[in-house]
Amino acid sequence: MMSTEVKGKELIVSKIRDGIVIDHIPVGRALMVLRVLRLRGGEGRIALVMNVESRRLGRKDIVKIEGKELGDDELNLISLIAPTATINVIKDYAVIKKFQVKLPDAVKGVVKCRNPRCITNQPREDAVATFKVIRSDQPLLQCLYCGTYLTIDDINAQLAGER
Ligand SMILES: [Zn+2]
Repeated sequence: MMSTEVKGKELIVSKIRDGIVIDHIPVGRALMVLRVLRLRGGEGRIALVMNVESRRLGRKDIVKIEGKELGDDELNLISLIAPTATINVIKDYAVIKKFQVKLPDAVKGVVKCRNPRCITNQPREDAVATFKVIRSDQPLLQCLYCGTYLTIDDINAQLAGER
């Protein structure tokens, strides 16, 4: 909980020069969002702002990363973890592009099927794990090959285990 001295005051986080600000992340998901980003270590400062007030969501998390651009796979994963997220692209301290993430109809090659017998998990087959996105509020994926469901917790566990 926030202390009473801080309550009601604006939390100041320094502006970034170039990079991205991922706003309107559901509370508690900032670390998950950070996890799906392919950070190579060459980025600048990273700020996680958690549990701040939001007119739209009540409470929200924010992730800011200097010197970062987002690829399509990263955007797809962010849309699964944080369907409400807004991406701000910053250049020279100004927002040059702002958009809401959009859940794709399907995701391919970014997460694995959790069924060990699925054809996509057989080394001799070249079927790429492909999932249909079947719910958008609490995203749920279904493997196109074997029908196995993947929840957001499965995705998070998988991403955590891989790194
Ligand atoms: Zn499968």
